[in-house]
Amino acid sequence: MNSSNTPRANRYNKTNVSGKTFYLETFGCQMNVHDSEKVVGTLVEQGYSQVETPEEAHLVLYNTCSIRDKAEQKVFNRLQNFKRDAGKGKVFGVLGCVAQQEGEKIFDRAPHVSLVCGSASYTRFGEMLVQIEAGNRRVTGLSLDTEETFDTPFTRRDNPHRAYITIIEGCDKSCAYCVVPFTRGPERSRTSESVMAEARGLAEKGYSEIQLLGQNVNSYRDPSPAGWDFATLLARVAEVPGIRRVRYTTSHPRDFVRAIVDAMDSNESICDHVHLPVQSGSSKVLAAMDRLYTRDEYMRRIDWLKSAKRKYSLTTDIIVGFPGETEADFEQTLQLLDEVQYDSLFSFKYSPRPNTSALAMEDKVPDEEKQRRLLILQEKQRAIQIRRNAESIGSVREVLVEGRHESLGQWIGRTSDNRTLNFSHPETGGKSLIGQYLSVRVTRSGPNSLVGESVTVV
Ligand code: SF4
Repeated sequence: MNSSNTPRANRYNKTNVSGKTFYLETFGCQMNVHDSEKVVGTLVEQGYSQVETPEEAHLVLYNTCSIRDKAEQKVFNRLQNFKRDAGKGKVFGVLGCVAQQEGEKIFDRAPHVSLVCGSASYTRFGEMLVQIEAGNRRVTGLSLDTEETFDTPFTRRDNPHRAYITIIEGCDKSCAYCVVPFTRGPERSRTSESVMAEARGLAEKGYSEIQLLGQNVNSYRDPSPAGWDFATLLARVAEVPGIRRVRYTTSHPRDFVRAIVDAMDSNESICDHVHLPVQSGSSKVLAAMDRLYTRDEYMRRIDWLKSAKRKYSLTTDIIVGFPGETEADFEQTLQLLDEVQYDSLFSFKYSPRPNTSALAMEDKVPDEEKQRRLLILQEKQRAIQIRRNAESIGSVREVLVEGRHESLGQWIGRTSDNRTLNFSHPETGGKSLIGQYLSVRVTRSGPNSLVGESVTVV
């Protein structure tokens, strides 16, 4: 999953008669962003209203990510800044992956924290709030022993056009570098019935794009008697009237089966984009990572996608400098980039994380070497992207309008194949185009985005 720090855009307030306020900052992947939307919904239902800054809030929450050390450090730095506010009526809580990973140690490291809650315990979040309000200053939700998923009718979505739906939580894989199985617990799939009801409800409210979420959506297994697999669920969600785009993330190559490509080929509402994290181009490194596929097996999936009826954009994640990665292994990753020609990728230096098997591995790659490899990889990918994006010049693409760059006088659109396409459009008389689907002719391209002109008359 791609990482970003995402301070929330919308502020929510039911009818706040209690004067209770909260501030929530989210770190990490889309799963965390969507968990926060559900946490906000629960808070608002319990009479809290959302404020812009931690200074204004009674309850300050950080929904954390522990995939990389940096995000974790950021959270503790934020907490440190408010140490002086301890005992002044402000309550602090740590949610998500760092909460699960560090557990009660957080109370030692930041004694002004009162709530520590991992994502597998969000179903009890409402109860925990009641305990906090009763004055309890050591409230925890750290059990991973759950078969439940965090479903709530009170989700407060940040975007009025594009909505996330979590279909599976947790992960049963055990990739050697990854903390997720430890922080999010075992896989739990929602019933197809509840996912479909949510999708239909969103369409009725005017959402036109849905993104199905899970640590590994491909291993979705409907626990109800219908027994749908991921390909079936994907196809059915795409058939919901009013839904024009369906995306999904993240995939695991081992569970990415041919039926998913068939489902995509036969339903144009499923976006022309597949994010298929490879992590390394070397089968030796993949085995050390415990990724459960070889380079050849991964390439078979790429071949399915490249020989499909539709043209799909392909993106991936790569880790450089995993313990034992030699120059020759790294070369194989570079060759893989040449072979696949990804449209974009997220690349990271391997970072040792607690509770992972890679932590004990020998043959560590020095940091300078990891940095060198990362730069070479990124430079190569940049050249590929410049070339790939230039191929779009002259074409007319449909975009969902997501925003506006006032300073540039441009609208921000996203294509079905997940490219950002900034475009000019005749004066609208102050009318917003956000949420509309428009046709845009691509006139220029760069390494990370396209530029164009609207050809739709509004
Ligand atoms: S599939 Fe691997 S990398 Fe992805 S969440 Fe599970 S353990 Fe982590």
